[in-house]
Amino acid sequence: MTPKKTNEEEELTFEEEIEKKAAEEKGKAKAAAEEEGRRRRSLPTLLRGFRDILPDEQGKWNLLRDTIRQVADAYSFDRIELPILEKTDLFTRTIGKQSDIIQKEMYVFEDQAGDKVALRPEGTASVARAYINHGMLNLPQPVKLWYLGPMFRHDRPQAGRYRQFYQVGFEMIGSNEAIVDAQLIVLAHRILKDIGIPITVQINSIGTPECRREYLVELTNYFRPFRKKLNEDDKRRLQKNPLRILDSKDPVVLELLTGAPQIVDWLDEVSKAHFMKVLEFLDEAEVPYALNPYLVRGLDYYTHTVFELWEDGDGGELAQNALGGGGRYDGLLELLGGRPTPACGFAMGLERIVRSMAERNIDPPARPASKVFFAQLGDAARRVGLRLFEEFRKAKIPVAEATGKNSLKAQLEVANKLGVSYTLILGQKEVLDGTIIIRDMDSGAQEIVDIKKVTSILQRKLEQSEGVNPLSHTPVADQKQGTGITIE
Ligand code: AMP
Repeated sequence: MTPKKTNEEEELTFEEEIEKKAAEEKGKAKAAAEEEGRRRRSLPTLLRGFRDILPDEQGKWNLLRDTIRQVADAYSFDRIELPILEKTDLFTRTIGKQSDIIQKEMYVFEDQAGDKVALRPEGTASVARAYINHGMLNLPQPVKLWYLGPMFRHDRPQAGRYRQFYQVGFEMIGSNEAIVDAQLIVLAHRILKDIGIPITVQINSIGTPECRREYLVELTNYFRPFRKKLNEDDKRRLQKNPLRILDSKDPVVLELLTGAPQIVDWLDEVSKAHFMKVLEFLDEAEVPYALNPYLVRGLDYYTHTVFELWEDGDGGELAQNALGGGGRYDGLLELLGGRPTPACGFAMGLERIVRSMAERNIDPPARPASKVFFAQLGDAARRVGLRLFEEFRKAKIPVAEATGKNSLKAQLEVANKLGVSYTLILGQKEVLDGTIIIRDMDSGAQEIVDIKKVTSILQRKLEQSEGVNPLSHTPVADQKQGTGITIE
């Protein structure tokens, strides 16, 4: 029954009717847009500075990780896996209270037990802790360790700078020989060279804490008259950690630095001799390096050699995008309560290397395409299929399939697109008979074989067809059928 019209409705003119309808439509559209906005806002999103590494990037990551592992093995480094969460104290004691990491970048919180914990911002402190905890000083020295995993810094996100990023690190603990510093630099250079990224090592020596003390007095005296010209950050650095002023990117400081005292002139004889030896070893290994008197690195624990790995083509202004860096840290283990133990190491950022790989079109060789496709019709065939796939895997025959498709026609279309040489067809009848059909995609010919023999028959066929271009075959539509199976 149609409801009775009200007086109001009856009085509407045609134009008014149209207007009313339009207003109603507009209202509906607005409500739908608002609803869509609400839906979108309620979708889960990533935290700022965090990212997913999607499948299409994984080839580069795998190539990089494989290269790292090969070089690590070649230089006899042992892998160590370290926890992501550590006591906050481990980092505050070692990295330096005035460093950016401790001042503002570390993710710290109290856990349920009230313990102060931190997401690790770097790996060296944990390696040093593990060396002490596990009595590694009883092993032949130096102990050579490497790690790879995520690090966390609440840094300002920007290109090449994330809040979770991956680092690979190499550490040699228990030797003060210059060859150790050199070997680590050679190894870093080797990894990047094998990947295909040319670099120049920026290198400096910041000597021992003793010779640095005198230098820091000089440096502070030099900057004091210019204090008013400095920005707040640099003023703080000058007061709390003057060495870090050499790291400043402020043009005023960069200009002033040209006249500033350089630490190499304050090195004692032992530090100088150590540095010279490192450079000689690098010459011998033909690793390209540049002396950089302003390189100090961000962390307090470094002594003697400090270095960074700069991609060739980078200008000085891109130094903050270095692929990696490290140095000697002779005082760190003692600082943690261990025996005085000299050590040296470096870390590289994997995201930055992968980005450079993308810019240089460096990709792993493509995975060899499957030459065999397996079409399964019905659940009985799928059950047998599970077993067969295991056989193929053992025989190292890569086999493709299309699990989401049910009809033979749809499956063969996929096989056709993949350009395989052979398609295996297993239907209910074949399962009952203990057979399987092998279809030659070139000729369209099909043969029925004993399912127990299919792996060896396939192996033979693939060996015979080796050298024949597997991609050249006639499309399914043009092929004649060799058996009773119809393509539906
Ligand atoms: P560092 O531990 O600060 O000496 O850093 C060593 C390397 O890790 C750098 O050269 C970068 O390649 C990488 N790295 C450091 N911080 C970040 C970050 N926030 N995002 C991405 N990579 C980073």
